[in-house]
Amino acid sequence: MSIEMIPGFRQFHQMDTNLDKLPFFRMNEGVASNKIKVNGTSKINYSTYNYLGLNGTNEINEAALQAIQQYGTSVSSSRLLSGEIPLHRSLEREIASFLGVKDSIVQVGGHSTNVNTIAQLVDSSDLVICDALVHNSIMQGVQLSGSKMIRFKHNDMNHLDKLLKRFRQNYRNVLLIVEGVYSMDGDLCKLPELIQLKKQYGCLLMVDEAHSIGTIGHGGRGVTSYYGIDPTNVDVLMGSMSKSLNSCGGYIAGNKSLITFLRYNLPGFVFSVGMTPANAAAAQASLRMIQKKPELVNQLLENASYFLARLKKLDVDTGLSEGTPIVPIILGESERALWFAERLFEKGINAMPIIYPAVKEKEARIRFFMSAIHTKGDLDYTIDIVKQIVAEEKGL
Ligand code: PMP
Repeated sequence: MSIEMIPGFRQFHQMDTNLDKLPFFRMNEGVASNKIKVNGTSKINYSTYNYLGLNGTNEINEAALQAIQQYGTSVSSSRLLSGEIPLHRSLEREIASFLGVKDSIVQVGGHSTNVNTIAQLVDSSDLVICDALVHNSIMQGVQLSGSKMIRFKHNDMNHLDKLLKRFRQNYRNVLLIVEGVYSMDGDLCKLPELIQLKKQYGCLLMVDEAHSIGTIGHGGRGVTSYYGIDPTNVDVLMGSMSKSLNSCGGYIAGNKSLITFLRYNLPGFVFSVGMTPANAAAAQASLRMIQKKPELVNQLLENASYFLARLKKLDVDTGLSEGTPIVPIILGESERALWFAERLFEKGINAMPIIYPAVKEKEARIRFFMSAIHTKGDLDYTIDIVKQIVAEEKGL
């Protein structure tokens, strides 16, 4: 066996010569805020998930520094054995209370939280039905679980209903998985209908709130709050801490018995080191700051609505985005998205192209992550540049 025999290896290395031309793995200097420094030049930044602009602020940095001083840089053990520190439990209690559920468990990565948890919730006797646009980490979790997976057309509740009617009775449990705010499109799941279907067919419902926590709903309490729905209607609430919580890690929140079960049974938790003190402290300080300054969430949403409304007046396709902090411009071919991103970059704007296979072929796009700290000047300048690029492309 040689490295060349790894599936996909040869194909990948045939493209290798072009990798340097792609705008990926660019080196950023300093904290990514509304501006970012790349190769010594400042750019208006739409490429990082610093939704509330809290990353790198004194309050969050101080909390992380203090945690390092008190506990060091690692807890040096699985929490189950001797890695538990008070910060872990207080963060988990605060997440649960913020969301309005009984308990939560934090893990070291957002992606791995989905993989580990889904693989533990279902097995080969079960069916997972997820939205066609759910994140890679969800699909990886389902694959690892060995359960059967079917995807329903994005946000199409009639399709989901048909699938449930046809397949529900063939499986022991059915787990429905959606996202609060979809990461590539910026639209929301249809939570009221999902809850109705889950009750009608007796399923479990999991919602990935990576992009909805701290960004939508009352004071950033996510998609249940956005719809005014009691969060206990969702069996498994998942969130990432790398977005509005300015840290690294993931949480699962829900009722006591679910969380206790996971605490003793999740391989990626039981057999892995606990979250670092600095990461736990940064997430906790961010959560406290969101509650202290709910105006940050309002400012974020104001920026997003303003930007989207102005983009819609141009001749560009903003897809499904609906006033959330994710605003795409759908461009079609990957080549076109790469060209568009390069033109933006030359004009001082850093917004990443998302190309196949991260999205379907012919649905390549530029994805703008909005932040509460973008100024009106940043947004207006960006709109002007988009307008110029569109005109340039048409040869106007
Ligand atoms: N879920 C969704 C919907 C995501 O978009 C992401 C990554 N952006 C993740 C999970 C994984 O989170 P993390 O980057 O914190 O590992």
